Amino acid sequence: MKRPLSIKSQSIVPSATLALSALTKELQANGEDIISFGIGEPDFNVDQVIKQAAVDAINSDFSHYTEVKGIYELREEIAERLQSENGIKYSPDDIIATSGAKHALFTALQTLVSEGDEVIVPLPYWVSYSEMIKLAGGVPVLARTEFENSFLPDADIIRELISDKTKAVIINDPVNPTGAVMDKKRLKGIVEVCVENGVYIISDEIYDKFLYDGAKHYSAAAFGEEASDITITINGFSKTYAMPGWRLGYAASSNKDIVKAMSGISGHCISHPSSIVQKAGAAALKAEQGFVGKMVKEYDRRRQYMMTQLNKAENLRFVLPKGAFYLFVDISAYSGNSSEFAMDMLRNGKVAVVPGSAFGLEGFIRLSYACSYEDIVKGMNRFTSYLSNIHEQTDPDY
Ligand code: PMP
Ligand code: GLU
Repeated sequence: MKRPLSIKSQSIVPSATLALSALTKELQANGEDIISFGIGEPDFNVDQVIKQAAVDAINSDFSHYTEVKGIYELREEIAERLQSENGIKYSPDDIIATSGAKHALFTALQTLVSEGDEVIVPLPYWVSYSEMIKLAGGVPVLARTEFENSFLPDADIIRELISDKTKAVIINDPVNPTGAVMDKKRLKGIVEVCVENGVYIISDEIYDKFLYDGAKHYSAAAFGEEASDITITINGFSKTYAMPGWRLGYAASSNKDIVKAMSGISGHCISHPSSIVQKAGAAALKAEQGFVGKMVKEYDRRRQYMMTQLNKAENLRFVLPKGAFYLFVDISAYSGNSSEFAMDMLRNGKVAVVPGSAFGLEGFIRLSYACSYEDIVKGMNRFTSYLSNIHEQTDPDY
């Protein structure tokens, strides 16, 4: 008889966003014309300056192991970026380069969480948080939030949930899946509660450059020394530089014990991210950043079009997105089961969307506008006509 696989491996739900992306690609490969509002993956190409840096790194045989924390040149650029744009004072020694922000989050949780520790996660949450917490032996404690507040958490709800077992709070701002952005007062309130209670903050700021309607981004670690000491700042290159497949992210903390422990863990898991990609990452940060602004402008154009179309549809409401590249839409007037709704929308409406259940919240779906404007126009047509069909079938007065 075969011995069982680990309990941890069997308790994990595979990533719904990646599963949906795989299914969409499979259907498309079989000739089906599907528009994907599913995965949050930038559709832009990587800037030439970044590509050239990778080519140069290959041609100059930059092919050996690097420091576990990453090459100094990259960490210096990251520290400089976090200081000048996020207002956080880090030295290059406070930075660890990772294989994507996912790996930074995973390592942060492995560093902070012991068996049975609780980690507070505001609802709705990005799909991987809960599973990463479980993999670290922890227990996700979900913080209820209100639609009226764009599903943003506040200091009171975090305070209520803190127990003796609470180790950390995960803050994601701008938020995936809602696109909501925290104002300074809200974030400061949460940071103060964490400082008072000695609870760590994992601050996932991967969408910090994706802001609209004049929204501003604030970093948890920028609220003074005590805040910085309990915070691990997470960011990466997948979104800002449209490099999701290159797998480069980073974690930063002014808490030396955290950085030491994280690099110890990372050294055993991946050694470090690819040497070639690290060179490309340094070039991305050194480059003139105009291309980032251009991408964000185009995302905004898509966002506005999608919102206009959604506003025309009957019985829909959505969180007003001021950041990231998602719209979180209340479909409870059409279906109580977001997975079934998403599957029907994919098979019959030919549009891929992610069910709210993947983010811990039923009755909603997430639309990503990280796809071409043409696809958005076509996809929104399909989406709204699919909804009016359901409306016709279910509304007795129609
Ligand atoms: N955090 C959030 C909120 C995300 O949406 C993503 C998307 N992939 C990640 C982290 C991980 O990004 P990466 O590709 O850098 O691993
Ligand atoms: N973060 C993106 C999303 O939510 C990419 C997929 C993933 O890494 O989960 O769609």
